[in-house]
Amino acid sequence: LAYLDYNATAPVRPEARQAALAAMSTVGNASSTHRSGRDAADRVDLARRQVADLLNCSHGEIVFTSGATEANNLALRAAFAAGGQLVTSAVEHPAVLETAKAITAELPQALTVLSVDVDGLVDLEALHEALAAGNVAVVSLMAANNETGVLTDLAPVVKAAHDAGALVHTDATQLVGRLPINLTETDVDLLSLSAHKFGGPQGVGALFVRRGAALPYRPLLFGGGQERGWRAGTLNVAGIAGAGAAAEAARHGMAAEVPRITRLRDSLENALVEQIGDCRVNGAVDRRLPGVSSITFHRAPADAILASMPDVAASDGSACSSGAPTPSHVLLAMGRSREDADSTVRFSLGYATTAEDIDRAVASTVRAVHHVRGTLASAT
Ligand code: PLP
Repeated sequence: LAYLDYNATAPVRPEARQAALAAMSTVGNASSTHRSGRDAADRVDLARRQVADLLNCSHGEIVFTSGATEANNLALRAAFAAGGQLVTSAVEHPAVLETAKAITAELPQALTVLSVDVDGLVDLEALHEALAAGNVAVVSLMAANNETGVLTDLAPVVKAAHDAGALVHTDATQLVGRLPINLTETDVDLLSLSAHKFGGPQGVGALFVRRGAALPYRPLLFGGGQERGWRAGTLNVAGIAGAGAAAEAARHGMAAEVPRITRLRDSLENALVEQIGDCRVNGAVDRRLPGVSSITFHRAPADAILASMPDVAASDGSACSSGAPTPSHVLLAMGRSREDADSTVRFSLGYATTAEDIDRAVASTVRAVHHVRGTLASAT
């Protein structure tokens, strides 16, 4: 199988598996004061430092969660606790968009959803207007889009938001571990990540909370006060240890992985566009994650394409919405038709993708698209 669905989840890195298994092979609650408990706490401490090193922040700024969905919920609920305006974009992951809608349900005028252009880039003019209208509590814009890979230039967003007294949250789930991020330079207040996107286990993530950020204390889970009170509950030591080891491996591998994955993605994309024709690559091509290619194959529904190539794991839309009959809100926000959205396949590559995977994906996709187009043409 050519696995090209890293934006849904990445294979667990061997380092992460080993760290998680080692943690699971010992007993101890990270909150206990005996030796076993301290051993668990040490594993969590190490992982906290490893994740912090990947982000270039302090380990005291990391709150472990069950994933990016929880981190996004925690960030937005806390940042919006005192009211004001919440500004986000039309192409965010449902973990941000649905949270934003839920917490402003009683005050729909408190939510501003910024539009994007045909390339998927957020309308900065509209951001400035929203900030100028006053009373913005938080601006939440994703660092990289899960469907198109399009990157947000966070620096001007942070500057404008901070000048207006607003906090900045970024859902960096798809960026962390794939491209460098330096939180001493990128001055966001809150950042969400998920370990399984960069080779850690599923079900573990983190929220970065900048020290000194004016964030009202508003945990989602109350209880034993773990994670400095931000997230009660016995820590998932094995998952966290795996996340830390994956973060370290991603950090060490990044300098080599970024150009290698970019080359593989470009060769996949160029071959498909050349050999298939009548297709369109979605998103700002020179401002994307290295491993993502979203391609609309006109006159060929994506579900039929994917069903015709069982030896390739790719995605129609995002994993969380596939299976649901709704078209991609990201592509619709970029001005694509419903038909185009339904004819779009997302290929996403990562650290273990090989040239053989790409060769196989090209051959299978070319065959599948021609087959689907041929079947549809003969049916009409
Ligand atoms: N945010 C983005 C951009 C994502 O791509 C995903 C996962 O697909 C999430 C949030 C949710 O992450 P998790 O499944 O770890 O909660």
